[in-house]
Amino acid sequence: MRFWRALRWPAILAASLVALVVLLRAGGYLARYEFQASDARARYFEREVDSNVVIVGIDAQSLAKLHEWPWPRRYHAEAIERLRAAGPERLFIDIDFSVAREPADDAALESALARWTGKRVLLPTFFQRATGADTDLIVTEPLPRFAEHATLGSVLLEPGIDGLVREVKNTWSLGDRTTTSVSAQMAGRVLSAGEPLQIDFGISPASFSYVSYVDLLEGRYDPSEFKGKSVFVGATAVELGDMMPVPLHRALPGVVVQALAAESARQGVLHALSAPAYFALLVLWAALAATVFLVDSWRRNLIGLAALLGFLVLADCLLYSFAGTTLEVVPTALLTILAYCVATVRSLDQQTLRAIANAIGLRKRDALLKSVVESSTDCILCITRTGIVRTANPAAARLFACESDMLAGAPIAAFIPTIGDFEALAGDITETDAKTLTGDEFPIEVSVGRVDFSDEPLYTVIVRDISERRAQQRRLEYQASHDSLTALPNRSALEGHLAHALRANAPDESIALLLVDLCRFKEVNDTLGHHVGDRVLAEVARRFEQAAGERAFVARVGGDEFTVVLGRVTDDDIVADLSQRLNAALKTPIDGGGIGLDIGLSIGIALYPADAPDIATLLKNADIAMYVAKRRGSSHEYYDVAQDQYSLRRLSMVSELRSAIAANELQLHYQPQVNLHSGRVQGVEALLRWENPALGKVSPFEFVTLAESTDLIRPLTEWTLTQALEQSRRWSADGLDVTVAVNLSARILQDVQFPRRLWSLIEASGVSPTALELEITESAMMSDSVRALRVIRELHALGVRIAIDDFGTGFSSLGYLRDLPVQALKLDKSFVMNAEARPDDRIIVESTVQMAHALKLEVVAEGVENEWAVRFLKAAGYDYLQGYHYSPALPAAKCFDWVVNFNRAVDSSTPIPRPYSSVESAIA
Ligand code: C2E
Ligand code: CA
Ligand code: CA
Repeated sequence: MRFWRALRWPAILAASLVALVVLLRAGGYLARYEFQASDARARYFEREVDSNVVIVGIDAQSLAKLHEWPWPRRYHAEAIERLRAAGPERLFIDIDFSVAREPADDAALESALARWTGKRVLLPTFFQRATGADTDLIVTEPLPRFAEHATLGSVLLEPGIDGLVREVKNTWSLGDRTTTSVSAQMAGRVLSAGEPLQIDFGISPASFSYVSYVDLLEGRYDPSEFKGKSVFVGATAVELGDMMPVPLHRALPGVVVQALAAESARQGVLHALSAPAYFALLVLWAALAATVFLVDSWRRNLIGLAALLGFLVLADCLLYSFAGTTLEVVPTALLTILAYCVATVRSLDQQTLRAIANAIGLRKRDALLKSVVESSTDCILCITRTGIVRTANPAAARLFACESDMLAGAPIAAFIPTIGDFEALAGDITETDAKTLTGDEFPIEVSVGRVDFSDEPLYTVIVRDISERRAQQRRLEYQASHDSLTALPNRSALEGHLAHALRANAPDESIALLLVDLCRFKEVNDTLGHHVGDRVLAEVARRFEQAAGERAFVARVGGDEFTVVLGRVTDDDIVADLSQRLNAALKTPIDGGGIGLDIGLSIGIALYPADAPDIATLLKNADIAMYVAKRRGSSHEYYDVAQDQYSLRRLSMVSELRSAIAANELQLHYQPQVNLHSGRVQGVEALLRWENPALGKVSPFEFVTLAESTDLIRPLTEWTLTQALEQSRRWSADGLDVTVAVNLSARILQDVQFPRRLWSLIEASGVSPTALELEITESAMMSDSVRALRVIRELHALGVRIAIDDFGTGFSSLGYLRDLPVQALKLDKSFVMNAEARPDDRIIVESTVQMAHALKLEVVAEGVENEWAVRFLKAAGYDYLQGYHYSPALPAAKCFDWVVNFNRAVDSSTPIPRPYSSVESAIA
């Protein structure tokens, strides 16, 4: 079963091919090719044979000698007579004797013919179609008087479909008469009637002996030449026009063609295979071919094809030369080729077809890749194992600043000197340097890839100029390690520097870290705006760098914090000297937009390895030392283990304060303010007090500043406001109506939510907003922060009084206050307290009140400690006084009693309370 299924395909192939070829052959489509094949074979096998043919040619020489034409028949009689004497086997005279001529000549010819015995002379007969129909044939034959002594033979030579004479019909029948062809008769053989005689053009006409007619007539011949031969007499001169178109020789005289035909018959008749035999052969051959081409490889099939065709040609030749059989090779060969083609197409299975499709796609992709490479801005090179550039794209030429053709063939090392072993580099991206032809060096990134499709390994080298990237990297590195404002190294650069210095430090040397914090800088920033602050910082940085000198490393590590690192310290004096110089650097005021700014500094100094074993500790200890300097008001402090206590206190204070707020551990005290117009106390300032079991009494300065530096300031402020409002409500209920002033931290003004929260606190307390006053420090108020101003305006819109606290300590001018929603101004207590001793401060005290009044602001003086101050301030025109001269801040209950007493004394007028009378007397 399997076997038959396997055979099905070759069987179908063979059958259909045989059918196709048979059809083509029957349609005559193959004849022309078959002729060409047989001609080729004839040409190949053309040879002189051992022939008994002698041709007596009526040639050009004969025509020239025997002037007239047609010749008188006595010439022919003479020739026949001479030939007869020479004794040939047969004689064929290819001359038309169908018409009577000169009687004497005709008689001579007749008697010459008659003298031949056995009718061994052949005379031609032929037919000509008069109209084209077979019945209308005009027969041309010798006159009966000649024919009587001779045998008639047909000389008809009909051209085949290619117009060439290739075969001779052996017999012709016309009515009851049958004429045998001359060639058959001259060959002396009986040939089959049906099958035409194929002329074997492989026989060379040179096989025949030629005798010129005129030589025969004039006796110039050897009679033995004709003895026992077949003699053909006929026109060979081209002029006589008896030329036949034939293969191989183009044209041959009719008589030579007849002789060739006769010789072909004599040599052994050429015959084609019979139709059934040929069909059988085709079928067998087709089966053979189909089997041979069963192999699924077009290459092996090609070998099969060559073998089959070779065998076919060989068989044809062998059959021709040994069996006289002509094989029709063309149909057979065609069949073979077709079988090969079909089998090959069939053997191109899907994979092959896909491969072909791929190949077409590949060509497209090749073109695409080429254009990508050509247009790439990256330099792409193809390089041999020995580092010779094979190809380079235009970008490569641009990169190395040369022509493309200079690159090809050049060693890559001429451009990338450090490039080494490609094999080791393959698959990696490395950075190195390259140079142009002119010697300019630039950084590059190289990626090498191996290409394996060719015999020798090639490498693709992609080169990218990374100058720009390197520059960018340097910029980024610079930015990451430097402060953009002052161009000083930043904290991370400091840490890097310290790490390096610590590693390099010798045992007998130290590294000094100086942490420098600016004093009053925050005020500059808040008051004059950030742009002035920035300018101040830049100037400070410049001065520090100058003061620090080459050996020290200056960095900016925070808003107004700088560090100076000094390595290889062997002597404490060097450090002291350095901090001295830093201090001196800020002695000259810094220009803050027209105002000379006095910026102070506090320096904390820690030493490695004496004070700290590592960077973090070194920084922390310098910070502690700096804090101590700030507290003590000294310019610099060395770290001291004892100081750690202080930093611990700060740390614990934060958590303590947090729980203090939550646990209501804080207290609010109230300090009365005396209204100089009514003489009564109509307001108090709420001041925070905190006493902690562990920390003791903590100054509000200290813990408020601490709260400001953490997020505790918000709950602290809200606690204070709630307390103050509650107190106000209670006092009001007890019949004491005083405004309560609450201090607001500058930080709170940054919180846009604050006005809303204050409003809800006021609402919750049920107290009128007019009972509340907010004290905001001058610097917070003057801040150019748009947000702070907005918050202040919103607070004012709530109906709350706003006063400026500590007026005179900032850098603002009075004119600036005009646009602010402020009702009162509290001159800083330092001016008041110093007024008695310093005339300058007295002037400030006096001028401030005048200007404030001009701006319709009420003025409060705090820090009123004595009688003199009361007199002076009253005379100056102040509206309110506050200070220890009257009362310090008191717990609520005490304050209540104090105020009630004070006011009652004022109301009853006599005796006038002591402070008031003293003011009166001062004026008097
Ligand atoms: P301040 O707002 O300038 O408060 C006035 C300070 O001067 C108070 O000190 C007060 O006790 C003191 N003082 C009053 N009269 C005299 C006097 O005649 N002579 C002298 N030498 N001092 C006098 P205190 O209570 O220690 O408060 C210090 C600072 O703490 C306050 O300065 C204020 O800035 C801050 N502070 C106090 N309580 C609060 C608060 O509830 N919230 C906020 N944000 N800050 C507060
Ligand atoms: Ca105050
Ligand atoms: Ca104050």
